Amino acid sequence: MKEKIYTIPLNDAFDANTECPFCFLYEKLEQSRVEYTVGASMMEPDSRMVTNEKGFCNRHLRQMEKCQQALSLALVLDTHLNEVVKKLDALKGEMDALASPKRGLFQKAPDTALAAEHLAAQTDRILESCAICDYIRETQERYMDTFFLLYRTEEDFKKKYQESKGFCLEHFSMLVKLSGKHLKPAGQTEFLKSLYEKEMENLRRINEEINYFTKKFDYRFQNADWKNSKDAPQRTILKLVGK
Ligand SMILES: [Zn+2]
Ligand SMILES: [Zn+2]
Repeated sequence: MKEKIYTIPLNDAFDANTECPFCFLYEKLEQSRVEYTVGASMMEPDSRMVTNEKGFCNRHLRQMEKCQQALSLALVLDTHLNEVVKKLDALKGEMDALASPKRGLFQKAPDTALAAEHLAAQTDRILESCAICDYIRETQERYMDTFFLLYRTEEDFKKKYQESKGFCLEHFSMLVKLSGKHLKPAGQTEFLKSLYEKEMENLRRINEEINYFTKKFDYRFQNADWKNSKDAPQRTILKLVGK
């Protein structure tokens, strides 16, 4: 069944018992997509067309660079750069007009401010576009849909959700926003209440853990047990801003 593509990783993410199952999925998704982009996608013309057109953000290009696939990386960069040149070349007419000294008597003077605006906007569109970010966003939306489907229909999954440690604030907010789309009013009320209680309980728990971490630097607690606090800063950051 087709949904298995989403249900299996989603179940695995909740089984992993982390501070945010959706961030757990994000990390896996990101890593596999970066590897795919400088790996198997080289053989997929459709995928190459998307990466040529959209390009990559700073974060994902740096990750691709670390994959040590020099030739694949260079091929992807080469064909994407062709597109970048084409996109900026589209403004050549407007830019040439600025430099042209000869102008007819009734010809309007070129608008430099407007040309600057167009050039900046076109460059920003290139900078803001990322094939990997788009892929992750779309896939994460499928995971969110699947989350609500399983929550509604599978008792085992609902139990996993109830036993989870809550979510990072970003994914918590996404669940809140999407709850009305996926649940009937009574179901949404029940879900929102449980989600809020779960999140608050886990924010307080992690607050205690990070607080205990700070105490360990007090000489009076030097020999005390770390309890769960050794990685509290990393988990607190994850809870606050996600991956
Ligand atoms: Zn998250
Ligand atoms: Zn990106």
